[in-house]
Amino acid sequence: MTPSSLADLQAKLPHVPQRFWKFVQPTGNGCWLWKSELNWKGYASFYLRTTKPVVRMMAYKYLYVQIFGQYPDSLQLDHLCRNRACVNPAHLELVTARENVRRGNSRVAENMTKTRCIRGHLLSGQNVSMRKSGWRRCKKCECERARRRRLAAAIRKGETDGQENQADQQT
Ligand SMILES: [Zn+2]
Ligand SMILES: [Zn+2]
Repeated sequence: MTPSSLADLQAKLPHVPQRFWKFVQPTGNGCWLWKSELNWKGYASFYLRTTKPVVRMMAYKYLYVQIFGQYPDSLQLDHLCRNRACVNPAHLELVTARENVRRGNSRVAENMTKTRCIRGHLLSGQNVSMRKSGWRRCKKCECERARRRRLAAAIRKGETDGQENQADQQT
């Protein structure tokens, strides 16, 4: 979906909070980047404040369900664009959990041969952090993600808590 279809979608879904759309940023490759918090796996997460208590949910899943309706628990949404921070419903596909695992495994294989991360940083030497699964990650990007997480947390609290920031920097 293009940025113009984003505006269409917004008009068709008046019950989706304005706050939500503010976090959606269309990019040149069609991905709609989530500008707010990402969870520890890098997926877009959103705090829905229209409910009490406030519910934390996956932003891409939330938007998908608003458009296509609820889906069975046995199914999962797979990012066809492989960009976990993307919330574009056109980039998501419902698959069985098993299929999702299979695709994940082939991604690990592909990841092993990658020489650069999606942002073009060199994936070698000091810049690689290796997961137990064999998944290689870009350290530069991980630092950037951690920085954004801290920023999002600070914004959510509506203040910058000096003590907590100090604690964060020590870890
Ligand atoms: Zn995408
Ligand atoms: Zn990188």
